[in-house]
Amino acid sequence: MSPPPGDLPPFTRFGHGTHCKRCLVGLPGSQVDIDPSKLALAFYCIGSLDLLNQLLDKTKQDDRESWREWIWEQQVCGPYGAGFKPGPYMSSIKEDSTEGNVPQLIVTYTALLTLAILRDDFTRLDRTGIAQLLGVCQREDGSFSTEPYGGDTDLRTVYCAFAIANMLDNWSTINIDQSVEFMRSCRTYEGGYGQFPFCEAQGGTTYCALSALHLSGRGDRISPTERKQTIRWLVQKQDISGGFVGRTNKAADACYCFWCGASLNILGVGTLVDEDALRSFIGSCQHKFGGIAKAPKEHPDPYHTYLSLAALSTQATAARAGPDGNIGHSAANAHVDPSRSTSWELPPLDPLLNATVDTAAWAREHIPKSTNA
Ligand SMILES: [Zn+2]
Repeated sequence: MSPPPGDLPPFTRFGHGTHCKRCLVGLPGSQVDIDPSKLALAFYCIGSLDLLNQLLDKTKQDDRESWREWIWEQQVCGPYGAGFKPGPYMSSIKEDSTEGNVPQLIVTYTALLTLAILRDDFTRLDRTGIAQLLGVCQREDGSFSTEPYGGDTDLRTVYCAFAIANMLDNWSTINIDQSVEFMRSCRTYEGGYGQFPFCEAQGGTTYCALSALHLSGRGDRISPTERKQTIRWLVQKQDISGGFVGRTNKAADACYCFWCGASLNILGVGTLVDEDALRSFIGSCQHKFGGIAKAPKEHPDPYHTYLSLAALSTQATAARAGPDGNIGHSAANAHVDPSRSTSWELPPLDPLLNATVDTAAWAREHIPKSTNA
C-alpha cells in the first residue's frame, strides 16, 4: 500500500495557510450576518492555521481580537442556561422573546475551541449557565438535543456535550451512564457506531462515540472483544488509495483520514494506520493554489483542509506516543521547523478534543476557572 520512499509529494504548507486565510476574509465584522456555518468556517480556518503554526504569522492581532469579540457576541443566556448561538433563523424556538436566539451545543463546542485557539482568557464565560444548558439538552434516553427543548439529537451532539463538560471540568448536570447506554445502542454488528440506534456504522459517528466515552473516563465500557472488532473495522476503512472511507464500500474521503485515524489513536493503536499511504493520499488531495479537497481533483474547502491536517497531526501524536498512549510534555512541544516548508511534520493533536495539544491544554486550564472572581 505504501508508496516507495521519495514518492511522497511535497506538503504545500504555505499554500494551505493562504487558502485558510483567504476563506477568513469577510469575518467577522460584527455587523455581518452570523450563522452557524460562519462560526464553523472560522473554526476550520483558524484551527488550520493553528495546526500549521501560522496563526501568528498570517493574521494580525487586531483581526484576532475582533474574531474573539465577534464570538463573545454570540454568547446568550436565558431560562435554559447559557451558550453560544447560531443565527436567529436557525432557532427552533421562534417565540423566544430575546431576539429569537437560543444557544446550540455544536456551536458552543466550536466557539469554546476557537476561543482557546485565540488564547482568550475566558473571563466572560458563563460557566454555571453552560453547565445548566448541558442538563437541559440531555434527553431521557441519554442523548442530547442540539438546542434546549428541541433540535437534532444523535451521536454528534453527545460528543459535543461531553467535550464541553470535559473542557468545563463539570459533569454535575449530566447523567453520564444514560449517555453511555445511548452510545452503546448506536453500536453496530460491524464494530463501528451509527448516528442513531439501528443506523449503519460510519467513521465520523464512531469517532464521536469513542471520543465521548474516553472524555468521560468510560473507555473501559468497551469490552476487549468489542475493542478488537472496532479496531478491525477501522483498519479495514483504509483502502488501496491510502485514504479512509467513511462507510463500507464507499470511496476514500480526506475527512475520514481524521475520523478513522483519530479513532484508532484513541484506542491506543494509531500506529496501525499506514502513515506513508495516508500522506500519499492527502498529498494527492492538495490543490495547487492551496487547501485540501475531500478527494483528488476536487475543490478544496476549509473543512477537509482542517481535518486532513488534523489527521496528519494525529499520526504525529501516534508516532510520538509512549507505550501507554500518552505523549509527554516535551513531545507535545516538539519543535516544527518552519524553514522546512514542505515538511509533513505538524504539531501533535489531542485526538479527544480535536485541537493541538497546546490548545487543548489552554482550554482545560482556562475554561473551568474564573480569573475575575
Ligand atoms: Zn469528507
